[in-house]
Amino acid sequence: MSEEAARFLNGPHRAFIKGAFTDEGAGEAIAVHDPATGRVIAEVPEYGAAGVEAAVVAARAALEGPWSRMRPADREKLLLDLATAIEADGALLAELETLENGKSIGIARGLGVGGSVEWLRYFAGWATKIEGSSYDTSIAVPPGSHHFSATIKEPVGVVAAIVPWNFPLLMGIWKIAPALACGCTVILKPAEETPLTALRLAEIAARVGLPEGVLNIITGRGSVTGAALTAHPGVDKITFTGSTEVGQMIGRKALDTMTRFTLELGGKSPMIICADADQGQEPLMAGLGMFFNQGQVCTSASRLLIEKSVYDRTLEALAGVADSMTLGSGLDPKAQINPLVSARHRNRVNGFIERAEAAGARRICGARTLPEGGYFVAPTIFDGVSSEMEIVQEEVFGPVVAAMPFTDLDEAIRLANDSRYGLAASIWTRDLNKAFHASRALKAGTVWVNSHNTVDANAPFGGYKQSGIGREHGRAALDAYLESKTVIIRYS
Ligand code: NAP
Ligand code: MG
Repeated sequence: MSEEAARFLNGPHRAFIKGAFTDEGAGEAIAVHDPATGRVIAEVPEYGAAGVEAAVVAARAALEGPWSRMRPADREKLLLDLATAIEADGALLAELETLENGKSIGIARGLGVGGSVEWLRYFAGWATKIEGSSYDTSIAVPPGSHHFSATIKEPVGVVAAIVPWNFPLLMGIWKIAPALACGCTVILKPAEETPLTALRLAEIAARVGLPEGVLNIITGRGSVTGAALTAHPGVDKITFTGSTEVGQMIGRKALDTMTRFTLELGGKSPMIICADADQGQEPLMAGLGMFFNQGQVCTSASRLLIEKSVYDRTLEALAGVADSMTLGSGLDPKAQINPLVSARHRNRVNGFIERAEAAGARRICGARTLPEGGYFVAPTIFDGVSSEMEIVQEEVFGPVVAAMPFTDLDEAIRLANDSRYGLAASIWTRDLNKAFHASRALKAGTVWVNSHNTVDANAPFGGYKQSGIGREHGRAALDAYLESKTVIIRYS
């Protein structure tokens, strides 16, 4: 661990409200663990109703104050400054993300920090490009009058952003960047397991001169801090990424006050491998699609559908790749599979594995000795599964995959769509007809052809069915942070 990281971990850690770190409303300390060793590396206080109240008041004051009068070009500049400052702080941010989440330092640098910088720069550009439309109207009252009609886009207001632990910094930025570009103010609640990168982000935001109250960060468990935040009447919009169950609960409650909400939820994404796919792609399929970030990716390929004629061969190759992946700490650049985020989550994932075996599924890889101390699960593939099994229907959110054969594309699509989820899917084929047909027929918010798990700031992202409501990234993300006001002007 670097000296800088050790110094940061020592704290003190406090919520960031109205441009300053504050003890006001701080409750019991929550321990943050290093998943590679199980050791407690920091303690972060939990904030309840009083802390949430202070954050909402600060966000509201900023929204109605100087932030609302700031020129879009100046908001753009601030977002660009924030991106540059995050980039400059990247080594420490990435180290903190690996320490709190367990993930590979390479992924923390490349996608955690690198992605955050890219998304901020992308959305900075949108701050100056928000536009409404003008409309021809046929209004006939009073007779002989003329009308001009147009829409004005306005920030939706105070945004509560609730994010999970799998990409702690990036998930926060995916919400903060478009929200600030649109002129909203934000209260971010990171997951209890991973609050450190968010608190470092707060220091950076203060350093670049983000006006007080524009970004507030408040820590604690979902059941306490998250529940108080989402129930607060001063919140205009909730943007949530996490499990379908919590998302549904938040959505139901939000309707009581008509608080706007968008939800990015779970998935059980299929990877369809056709017999005509390029050979030798198993390392990419496994490394990028199935086991990236230990499978703790909402779009992770957790159902493998393989054409019968190549089923045995492909499965053997994938199992070989899985069993050859090196397990180790995220700080070890050679380790390809790192610990899961927590002991609780590791136990949950192992529970899925045990129940799959008990239900008669065959584990074809992953039974091996694990490094001591950390929360490891070896990459695991199940064969001999049937559609109704838990391992085929429920999201594991770990390095665990269920494989099934199919005979033709129609069957593959039927199996792929046999899920309450619809976040993503991929098809691997050289046949353009199959690729286009599947792209249409798959009920999923993202369909990849010959790839899996790739995202882009300009490409909309979100779920069909129970995988969510709304879209992030690209122009589509702006809708989540803007209200549309229609202005009709009568003139003579
Ligand atoms: P989770 O339990 O749903 O938690 C997500 C966030 O919601 C955390 O910050 C959590 O706080 C908070 N939360 C929990 N209960 C709450 C409540 N009653 N009110 C308000 N907030 C509450 O999910 P997780 O276990 O952290 O993450 C894994 C899940 O997230 C998986 O299902 C995965 O698919 C999904 N996910 C989806 C996407 C996507 O883009 N679609 C991306 C990543 C993850 P605490 O954890 O601090 O209690
Ligand atoms: Mg949680």
